[in-house]
Amino acid sequence: MPRYSAFAVVKNALTGHKGWREQWPDAQPKKEYDVIIVGAGGHGLGAAYYLAREHGITNVAVIDKGWLGGGNTGRNTTIIRSNYLYDESAKLYDHALDLWDGLSQELNYNVMFSRRGVMMLAHNVHDVQSFQRHVHSNRLNGVDNRWLSAEEAKEFCPPLNISREARYPVMGAALQMRAGTARHDAVAWGYARAAAARGVDIIQNCPVIAIRRGPDGAVTGVDTAKGFIGAKKVAVSAAGHTSVVMESAGVRMPLESFPLQALVSEPVKPVFPCVVMSNTVHAYISQSDKGELVIGSGTDQYTSYSQRGGLPLIEHTVAAICEIFPIFNRMRMLRKWGGIVDVTPDRSAIIGKTPVKNLFVNCGWGTGGFKATPGAAHVLAHTVATGEPHALNAPFTLDRFRTGRLIDEAAAAAVAH
Ligand SMILES: Cc1cc2nc3c(=O)[nH]c(=O)nc-3n(C[C@H](O)[C@H](O)[C@H](O)COP(=O)(O)OP(=O)(O)OC[C@H]3O[C@@H](n4cnc5c(N)ncnc54)[C@H](O)[C@@H]3O)c2cc1C
Repeated sequence: MPRYSAFAVVKNALTGHKGWREQWPDAQPKKEYDVIIVGAGGHGLGAAYYLAREHGITNVAVIDKGWLGGGNTGRNTTIIRSNYLYDESAKLYDHALDLWDGLSQELNYNVMFSRRGVMMLAHNVHDVQSFQRHVHSNRLNGVDNRWLSAEEAKEFCPPLNISREARYPVMGAALQMRAGTARHDAVAWGYARAAAARGVDIIQNCPVIAIRRGPDGAVTGVDTAKGFIGAKKVAVSAAGHTSVVMESAGVRMPLESFPLQALVSEPVKPVFPCVVMSNTVHAYISQSDKGELVIGSGTDQYTSYSQRGGLPLIEHTVAAICEIFPIFNRMRMLRKWGGIVDVTPDRSAIIGKTPVKNLFVNCGWGTGGFKATPGAAHVLAHTVATGEPHALNAPFTLDRFRTGRLIDEAAAAAVAH
């Protein structure tokens, strides 16, 4: 794999940019692999990369029904933070944040991780109490998060309306400075390129129709649109369709799948310095490097497998953004889209073993799994390689919905992007 560098850019510029090679080959399936990963999103591709890099397992295929990164990885609003309430979540997301820090260098691919700070607005007494509880809990876990008055919040983000007369008055905010955004496509492309360079096959446009099991109940491979492909181990990382894929192996998942929408405005000059989230009004906003305002909302109220959502939700979100940031009243919106998010009852992910031998699952990230990408991929690879969970994903079992040992982020925050 040729290294990307300033030198390579100059060299290729002198030869009319004809020397760039494809970033990863378009692989066709082999008869059998040591590991098959279903789903070429950031999590699946990342897991393949860590399997190869950290565990020396390179006979791996990542199979996607569409193009790589075409699921939620390429559709999300890229908020990265780790200030979750419970110890288990804070540790896992902070592990991811540590990995985000050096990811561009590690992958030799610019994922444009920008630590611009994520500010979460409090609009009522309940918000204030809840976010201050988060700040205390995070600090005990060594996760940075601090409380700001409304005036300090405005100083940090000047377009914010802190008038007492506002429909959603700002009573303060929690700010995580290590948090920020990254370029979502680049994360998928960077992991794909680095995994392929270590021998991983990335097979696109190949839906997995069913997971096949042998007479002893263990997985033997997957039936796909390109025929049967054998595998010693299978890991499902197919956000939005996890229940469907897992059902084919006889495993019923505690998941509901909802559309989640986002939209972008026309591009403008830099005007918005950070990420702002408002859980109470279900709206959040940042500005991309191209200049577009990137705006997201809460999930639609109904379950669906359609990658689009209802207009009323978008209308509500835009109205809320205009109330909180009146400066954006006359902005024009360019386009909107949706993804399908798998939501668990406690709004925390499931990463680990399943009742089926050699079948592993990574799902249930709901509206907030992009930020976890490197961390989730890293611990999933560990679990698949060793057959046992990493200490960080040990609590995130499927079993917890039977035992009741929940990680109840649902109770901690109305929206958990
Ligand atoms: C609008 C929106 C905004 C969001 N905003 C944020 C945010 O700001 N911050 C944040 O942290 N998270 C956010 N998320 C959530 C985040 O995008 C996801 O949790 C994360 O990207 C999941 O990554 P993944 O790799 O697991 O899944 P995906 O990227 O969805 O990859 C799963 C892949 O599985 C494939 N697949 C499915 N079924 C099959 C099959 N049968 N055979 C083969 N392949 C299959 C799909 O084609 C897909 O490519 C948002 C999501 C959406 C939709």
